[in-house]
Parts: sequence; C-alpha cells; structure tokens
Amino acid sequence: MSRYCCVALLWLALVGAPVFAADAPEAAVAEIERLGTTAHWRDSDARIAALASRPQALTAEQRQRIDHVRLRNLALAGQQPAALDGLVELLRQDLPAPLRVRVYTTAIRVAANLERWTLAFGLLGEGLTHLPQAPAESARLLGAASYLHTLVGETGKARDLALRALAHVDADGDPGALCRAVTDVAMAADHASDPREAEAWRHRQIDACTRAGDLVMIANGKLGVGKTAARQERHAEALDWSRRALADFEAAGFGAGAWSARLAVAEGLIESSSGPGEAEALLADTLAYYSDHDAHFAIAETEELIARLAERRGEPVQALAHFKRSMAASEAAERDARERRLAYLQVEFDTRLKEQQIALLEAEKELAAVQATATRRRQLLLAGGMGGMLVIAILLFGLLRRSIRERRRYRWQSQHDGLTRLYNYQQVRRLGAKAFTRARGDGRPFTAIVADIDKFKQVNDDYGHAAGDEALRSLGAWITDIVGGQGIAGRSGGDEFTILLDADAATAGALMERLRARIEPVTVFGQRVDFNVSAGICQDDGETASLEQLIHRADRALYRAKHGGRDRVVLARAPGADATAG
Ligand code: GH3
Ligand code: MG
Repeated sequence: MSRYCCVALLWLALVGAPVFAADAPEAAVAEIERLGTTAHWRDSDARIAALASRPQALTAEQRQRIDHVRLRNLALAGQQPAALDGLVELLRQDLPAPLRVRVYTTAIRVAANLERWTLAFGLLGEGLTHLPQAPAESARLLGAASYLHTLVGETGKARDLALRALAHVDADGDPGALCRAVTDVAMAADHASDPREAEAWRHRQIDACTRAGDLVMIANGKLGVGKTAARQERHAEALDWSRRALADFEAAGFGAGAWSARLAVAEGLIESSSGPGEAEALLADTLAYYSDHDAHFAIAETEELIARLAERRGEPVQALAHFKRSMAASEAAERDARERRLAYLQVEFDTRLKEQQIALLEAEKELAAVQATATRRRQLLLAGGMGGMLVIAILLFGLLRRSIRERRRYRWQSQHDGLTRLYNYQQVRRLGAKAFTRARGDGRPFTAIVADIDKFKQVNDDYGHAAGDEALRSLGAWITDIVGGQGIAGRSGGDEFTILLDADAATAGALMERLRARIEPVTVFGQRVDFNVSAGICQDDGETASLEQLIHRADRALYRAKHGGRDRVVLARAPGADATAG
C-alpha cells in the first residue's frame, strides 16, 4: 500500500458521526472530544464556539482538552502548519498525562503529514517517555509510532511497536481499537520479508474490523491480502481481492483508498495478462490523481505499469518514456524516504547519545559511589590499622616498660642483697675496685670497713631465723642511712658487711661509731632482740696491692675485734700492727 493511503487512513480515524451537546461544562467538553473523533470537524468546532462565550466556567484542564480538539480540527480543515504550532505550544503547558499522550499522537500525525520528520520523531521520542503514566492512551501513540517506523523502513521496530499497541488493547473491549491495532500490525508486517505472515495478519484485520463495522479498514485489509497474494505470484487471487477492496472503498466513500485499490487492480490485470484496456483506463485516471497530489511513490508505480502496458503493445519509445518518468518519480520518492530516514536516524542518534550520556552519568555516579566506598573502607582500614598500630604500640610500650622494669629489677637483684637492700658481695667488689683505683690515682684517702654481727648464730638460735633476718634488715637500713652517698656499702654474706669510703680511717671510725650508736634492739613477735657489731677498719696506705688486700686487712682487724671481746671497732694501722679504735 502506498504511503499516501496510510496517511489517509490515519486521518480517517479522527472522523465519525455527530451527537448531541450537554449542558454541564464537563459533559460539554466530553461531547466536544467525542465529536472530535467521531464526527465532521465542523460539528465539534461549532460546540467549541458555543462554549467560547463562557470560558470562565471551564477548568484549565478542560480548556486544554478543548484546545486539543480545536487544533486537530484546524489540521483537518487544511491549516496543518498552524495546527502543528498550536499543538507544540500546547505540549509546553502542564498537561495531565493521558491528554499529553493524546496531544503527542495528534502532533506526530500532523508533523508526518507536513513531512516535518525531525519534529515528528522528536515528538514521538518525547511522547513515548510519557506512556507509563497513561497506559490507556498507549495503543494510539504506539500505533502512530509503528506507522512512522514503517515509513522510514524500520519494519522490525514498526512491527514491535504495533504488537505493543495490540497488547494494550483489550480483545473484549472496544472493537474499533482492536481493529486499528491489528491494522497497524498488518501494515508493519506488509513490509516484513514473509508475505504469508502478512497475509495472515491481513485476514485477522478483516475479521477484527468486520466486528467493528469499520468499512474502510475492512477494505484496507482486503487490499492488503491482494498485495500479499501478488507477492506470492497468485495474481488472479490478488486481482480478485483488489477488486473487492476497491468496491468497499468506493462504498465507504474513501477516495484515497479507492485510488490505491485501482492501482492494485491495474497491476493485477497486467500480471494476470487480462483486460489491458481496463488497466490502461484505470492507470490514466490514477496517474492524473497522484500527479495532482505529488504522490511520488504512487506516480512511480503507475508510470511503471503504464510502461509495461506500452511494452506489451509493442511501443518501446513510449514504454521508455514512461519508465524514465517512473524512475524520476522513484528518485523523488527516494529523496522523500531519505529525508525521512535521515530525520529518523538523527533522532535515533540523539536518543542514543542521550542514552549514552545518561549511561555515562550513571556509570560515573556508580564509580563515584564505588570510590566513596573504597575511600571509606580505606579510611576504616587506615583507622583500624592505625588503631591496631596504636594497640601494638601501647602493647610494645607496655612490654618495653615491663622489660625495662624487669631488667632493672634483675640488674638490681644481681647487684643487691634482697634482705638488706645493700650491694651484694660482687657489686661491692666491682664498684669498690673502681673507687679504690680512682682514689689511689687522685691521691685521696680510701678506707675499708668490715663489720660483723656478734654472736649472730646465737640470735638465730635464741629468737629464731626470722628474728635474725629482721636484725639483718634493720642493720642494712641503718648502714644505708649512715653511709648515704659517701661510700659503698654491701652485705658480703651471712652477717658480714663491707663499707668502702673515700675517706681516712678516722672518718671511718667516726662513721662506725655513729652506726653502733644507731643500732637498737629489734622486736620480733613481741620479742626484743638485742645485738651489736664488731668491725675492722683499714685505710689504704698507698702500698696495699689491691682492694682485696685492703679488705682482707680490714677483715683481719675485725678478727681481732672479735678476739678482743667483740662489740668494738679495730683499726689496722699498719701491716701486722693493728689497734683497737673503740
Ligand atoms: P661471731 O661473733 O664470731 O661472729 O659469732 P657468730 O655466731 O656470728 O658466728 P658467725 O659469724 O660465723 O656465724 C654467722 C651465722 O649467721 C651463721 C648463720 O647461722 C647466720 N646466718 C647467716 N646468714 C643468715 C641469714 O641470712 N639469716 C639468718 N637469720 N641467719 C644467718
Ligand atoms: Mg658473726
């Protein structure tokens, strides 16, 4: 079927029978809308003019609905550019979704009629985005969409859209809507590769439109069956269906359809090699009609058939002339098709670009979200890591402090006597050796004291070991007090103590006297424990070989103190000539 016939069919969907007006504004508006699709445009226009005297009685939405009918009427009346401007203007307003989709459908048809393809596809793209909000209006818009796609050769898409439109139509609902939807699918299928499938859809169209009582669509279905039969080389059948379609179109008074059917009848006559005279007459009228309407595609078809007739008549010159005209018309039709296709591709490209941009934005958004999550995770990990490191640092610090404390304790323990808290034997010797050397080097006096508790064994025996320990502890404390930082004091073992002083023997003797004066009985478990000490003192005379020898000499002085009766201090004045100090 020619594009011209398709457009004419679309317009036909807007025309119907007149009805009466109602009094209430809403009823009047609804009536105008009904008349707009079912009656001559003059009927609804008259109602609109009647309502114009009291526009204040209408809501904004009612005014918009009336505007839609008015603009559609304007297009039907032949003022299509003005109608298109008005419709585009109306779409800029805030419209309820169903009305918006209806306005889009009308605007797309008018734009297609005016060959404003870019606008038509642009409006279609916009309109389709509103479909989810107006499912009841979907079938008409999808039908128009299918039609536009058929025109640009996108037959696959056209078929999908028509099938979508059909899916929106309730099979048990409005028979007219079902007839229109099946017709859309059949028209789209016409251009698909398999003519048998198209033929099946054409038969479904005839059935559905017969139920709807739609003469024009029945005729259109029959014409379709004829075309598909011709494509399958069933020319006699094709001729028969085309004649039936022609009769129906004529009966319905639908001129454009009838011209389309005449062209098909002529083709059928030529292909089945019957009635060349009838074909010639039909083609002459057809050519005149299509030439008047600048219908390039139909002109091309007509001229080609005329050329074939001339060829059969054996008039090659005439045949060539008609072929040339057919070619020229074909080129013009191709130009139209190219324009349509370009407009479509541009819209497709823009849409795809928009989709790509949206996809890109979404991808960027996703990426940003992923990055934010990653950053958050990193921060958490970092915080966790830092926390972990802090815990480890605290633990390490604790461990370090403990180990330092332990080391100090071990060192202290290795250098001190636990009971008296004085230096132990080794430490006294170690520190003493250095101090002795220093004093000797400096030429300063250096003296060793060796003190021992008298009859300590007896203390243990009389008062118990604990009492002996207490005596040792107390003595250690008193020695620490008295010696202070002046010298090195230690427990050499058992009940024996060594004190080394950077001082002379007199000072050492005085210190010992202070110590002895300080010693007092200790009380253990309520028992008073009395004890005293003896000591030997030896000052370095510069000839003593070592600290050991100095201590040894002090020890010998102590020995003598013991033998001298105890509780006393003996000075080692010179080797072999010791004397009691007090
Ligand atoms: P002397 O006057 O001759 O020194 O007589 P003494 O009994 O003190 O004799 P000596 O110094 O040889 O004996 C030391 C005693 O000290 C031997 C031991 O029983 C006691 N002793 C050694 N170490 C400790 C200790 O850590 N605690 C107690 N309670 N007694 C100890
Ligand atoms: Mg003793």
